[in-house]
Amino acid sequence: MALFGNLTDRLADTFKNLRGKGKLSPADIDGTVREIRRALLEADVALEVVKDFTGRVRDRALGDEVSKSLNPAQQVVQIVNDELVAILGGEARRIQFAKTGPTVIMLAGLQGAGKTTLAGKLAKWLKSEGHTPMLVAADLQRPNAVTQLQVVGEQAGVAVYAPEPGNGKGDPVRVAKDAIKEANRKQYDVVIVDTAGRLGIDTEMMKQAANIRKAVDPDEVLFVIDAMIGQDAVTTARAFQDGVDFTGVVLSKLDGDTRGGAALSVASVTGRPILFASTGESLDDFEPFYPDRMASRILD
Ligand code: GDP
Repeated sequence: MALFGNLTDRLADTFKNLRGKGKLSPADIDGTVREIRRALLEADVALEVVKDFTGRVRDRALGDEVSKSLNPAQQVVQIVNDELVAILGGEARRIQFAKTGPTVIMLAGLQGAGKTTLAGKLAKWLKSEGHTPMLVAADLQRPNAVTQLQVVGEQAGVAVYAPEPGNGKGDPVRVAKDAIKEANRKQYDVVIVDTAGRLGIDTEMMKQAANIRKAVDPDEVLFVIDAMIGQDAVTTARAFQDGVDFTGVVLSKLDGDTRGGAALSVASVTGRPILFASTGESLDDFEPFYPDRMASRILD
């Protein structure tokens, strides 16, 4: 079962019931909206997002037609599609590169969200786009994190800046600052800073991430979130927004087979765009995120 398989099936059934109908009555529309609401909640989309979403679908379905060339059932599908694109962030947004000096991209998120893997994926992708990225191991909490970053760096064929044993060890802020100096010196054009996560939201971890953010003044702070995190998505995203004020989101594990509601909630509750999607364990399982394509995939 694909990530949105269940949601896709439920929405398709809902739309099927409208097929062949002439003008939809308010009761038809209410029934449809109720089914959409149920389908979204079952997919673990956050309640506040579902409420807004279904409210807008209902208002528009009761209001003017979307296009004269569509029958009533198609109109509803079109409205749902438009609103899905909207909650996924509307227009696709790409990385904002620095005008001078290296572009600094900081990664934040819970442990296990997929940050280190993402660092490798992003570096490999940037390299294929003609950039010269450098990875920075500023996750000094997890014993294996530095080695893991070195492994993905090697797989991606990019440089990795890691603290020398005994030098800067334990101080991720210093590691990150030194790394940026090194990037300037060696003319790497993108610096990707991997930071520590914890299994749950933790004040110390958040303070550390906030300190790194303050020290390196990144061009982008990407919040990596596991698409399978379920209803915790909203609390986690809000905590990271308060803690590090991220500029964009990366959805990881979009290849999963649970309900994927996080994917549909996070852009909407934080007002931050989703920039990339991570879709597997290999470094090539990675793609720029397009809200309209994701909406089509859900309505497929
Ligand atoms: P970090 O603690 O945030 O740095 O997370 P890691 O990058 O170490 O990833 C945690 C686990 O999730 C690892 O076993 C990764 O192989 C796996 N992982 C990362 N991204 C994806 C993804 O997009 N899909 C799947 N299926 N697994 C992933």
